Amino acid sequence: MTSPTPAPAARGARDLFVELTGTEPAGMWSAPGRVNLIGEHTDYNDGFVLPFAIPFRTHVALAPRRDGVLRVVSTFDPVPVEVPLAELDALFPDRRDEVPEWARYPLGVAWALLGASGTAVADVSGADLAFSSDVPVGAGLSSSAAIEGATASALADTWGLGLDRVALARAGRTAENEAVGAPTGIMDQMASMLGETDAAIFLDCRTLDTEVVDLGFDAADLALVVMDTGVKHSHATGGYGERRAACERGAAAMGVGALRDVSVDDLPRLADLVDEVTFRRVRHIVTENQRVLDTVAVLRGTGPTAIGDLLVASHASMRDDFEISVPELDTAVEAALAAGAIGARMTGGGFGGAAIALVSRDQVTAVADGVRRAFAGRGFAEPHVFPVTAASGAGRDA
Ligand code: ADP
Ligand code: MG
Repeated sequence: MTSPTPAPAARGARDLFVELTGTEPAGMWSAPGRVNLIGEHTDYNDGFVLPFAIPFRTHVALAPRRDGVLRVVSTFDPVPVEVPLAELDALFPDRRDEVPEWARYPLGVAWALLGASGTAVADVSGADLAFSSDVPVGAGLSSSAAIEGATASALADTWGLGLDRVALARAGRTAENEAVGAPTGIMDQMASMLGETDAAIFLDCRTLDTEVVDLGFDAADLALVVMDTGVKHSHATGGYGERRAACERGAAAMGVGALRDVSVDDLPRLADLVDEVTFRRVRHIVTENQRVLDTVAVLRGTGPTAIGDLLVASHASMRDDFEISVPELDTAVEAALAAGAIGARMTGGGFGGAAIALVSRDQVTAVADGVRRAFAGRGFAEPHVFPVTAASGAGRDA
């Protein structure tokens, strides 16, 4: 496998912290990236998603400071960024350009946590935070939720905010939406906060109610293979905004607050109310919501070997109706299926990033080889193909 083996990122965060401050951190926290098993673009439509946390994590080493300053540094960009806590409110959202983009994630989480808990800046200490990560960036595995989750866990513990995990996930989303300016839903943050071993998080994005759904991949001898195409996506630009707007048009035409309230049976009626492109966008959301419900039912009934067709149908819907796939993602899915995968689909926001394949363990190598050959045959850059398991969510490690 051409796998990025999980690097010793925890050690990296500690070492960077020592380099920055000359002292040991007071504590270490981490949060994982995630893979979405099914339910794409349903989150901002108040719908259902079924992500799980993966073993790749962002680690943060933290110690409080006495001067009311937040200082953040990352192995991605070792120039530290310093902002007095008292200036966060002026910085976000209007003056966010004054700090480097990556620093808006952790500083935005700090700002959102204080706002969410109604905590006065004078009641909390400043802090030094050093980050290191082995979550691949821009691969659709949500390195952004990982840095947000690590920051939220570390600061909420340090500041004694008494917020639950859902509140921490919300702070991550606020940071991403308002401090960074990326109009994303809350799935990634919830998966990163709530993940459990060999289980997925069934999330109702309207109520934020969650259920832990056993995946049973281990018992069924299945592996979940990630095929990172290396094609970079960007949430803040591109077609994401257009898709959201189409969903809003569809909901307005149906007279509902969100597409969550439209069922598959309602679709014929919608066809007369909106243009053809809007109709296909909406059809993806409505059928995808149903596929999430069906996947949960199958996992709890027949078991994971029976979800393959749902994964394949999800990919076709994103390719043809929502039009967020790219040739590399389609090639990965087709090649994985041709090499014996039980099911496969692109995962994440689209326009690049990764696809996933559910594969019997003894066929992982055959699938990986088949995908690499297909990429080489089409002149695409070599993909990174590696298996992941479902792992635990954010928390304190030391
Ligand atoms: P992804 O699909 O990986 O979440 P995003 O574009 O949403 O992609 O988020 C990636 C951005 O998050 C990076 O460009 C960087 O600004 C920030 N980021 C993620 N992890 C780290 C880290 N460990 N250190 C610094 N910045 C990070
Ligand atoms: Mg992201």
